[in-house]
Amino acid sequence: EKKFDIIIIGGGPIGLASAIEAKKAGLSYIILEKGCLVNSLYNYPVNMTFFSTSEKLEIGNVPFVTTSPKPKRAEALEYYRRIQTTFDLKIHLFEEVLSVEKENTEVFSVITTKSSYKTTHVIVATGFYDIPILLDIPGENLPKVKHYYNDPHYYSGQHVVVVGSSNSSIDAALETYRKGARVTLVIRGAEISPRVKYWVRPDIENRIANGEINVFYNSQLTRISEADVEIQTPTNKIHLKNDFVLALTGYRPNFTFLKKLGIAISEETPCIPNHDPNTMETNIKNMYLAGVVCGGLNTHLWFIENSRVHANMIIADIIEKLGA
Ligand code: FAD
Repeated sequence: EKKFDIIIIGGGPIGLASAIEAKKAGLSYIILEKGCLVNSLYNYPVNMTFFSTSEKLEIGNVPFVTTSPKPKRAEALEYYRRIQTTFDLKIHLFEEVLSVEKENTEVFSVITTKSSYKTTHVIVATGFYDIPILLDIPGENLPKVKHYYNDPHYYSGQHVVVVGSSNSSIDAALETYRKGARVTLVIRGAEISPRVKYWVRPDIENRIANGEINVFYNSQLTRISEADVEIQTPTNKIHLKNDFVLALTGYRPNFTFLKKLGIAISEETPCIPNHDPNTMETNIKNMYLAGVVCGGLNTHLWFIENSRVHANMIIADIIEKLGA
């Protein structure tokens, strides 16, 4: 069994950035990814456009060249795929990490669905896209309720309720409307989220003003059944004919997994997983956090542009320790 200097859990942009820095520093490493390469990005809606401009998604100082300022999902997949091949990053795909335990003060034992490994350092870069935040209402387990939205064609001619008002919901409402769905937005608050991409906002506002997309503000979905849904509005409970519910109410990190690794999670919302902001080391010595997982429930705190630097901070700390 080979012993690595670093095992990186998660093959997202920040896991890849960490691998590039490890390689540059001459450390032995491997990335373990439970899905495909950049699995979260692969599972974004097929037509998604990033809110970031291309250069803000760059890692390893490799230019991300696109003809429009904001790349689409397909371009980002291709960029990160070329990053992996160019740097020849060592990654095992479709191999999920199940547990990490200290074998002794220096060595971790990492168990996966396919094998086991030994390492002296662990970087946890597992993101937040694996676990949707549920509505917790009757009928949510019906197959017509989706927490991930992919392609609008599927909803052509259907009565669709979209829950939520952030970017995912608004993109899904507009796309499915344009493929002939009859769309109703159910929004808990009094307005469309201020985080909605600035170039998308006038489109949704005009569709609502023209009555092309129906909207209920200050409202909540309370029950889902095969043929209809129940909505609690500020004045009464109404029933709407319904074929599909897109419940795009956000995602959260896998706290169960983090706790299993021994990482302390703050009890107060937003439940930040313990880490030193200068080194990114957690309460477990030689175990680090990187990327968007660091924000806990505050999934807007970190994104690629401001978290790619975690890779440099962590590798600098490891090198300093190894040299000491
Ligand atoms: P992720 O990319 O989520 O990578 C984590 C990886 O860990 C995943 O591939 C997952 O499969 C893997 N994993 C999890 N658990 C395990 C395990 N136990 N074993 C092995 N592998 C595991 N950010 C931006 O900067 N700009 C944008 O425009 C932008 N748009 C977004 C749009 C949407 C719809 C969403 C949901 C997010 C968006 N983000 C954007 C945030 C974006 O997801 C992150 O910035 C980026 O993916 C973070 O990279 P990461 O490497 O930290 O996490």
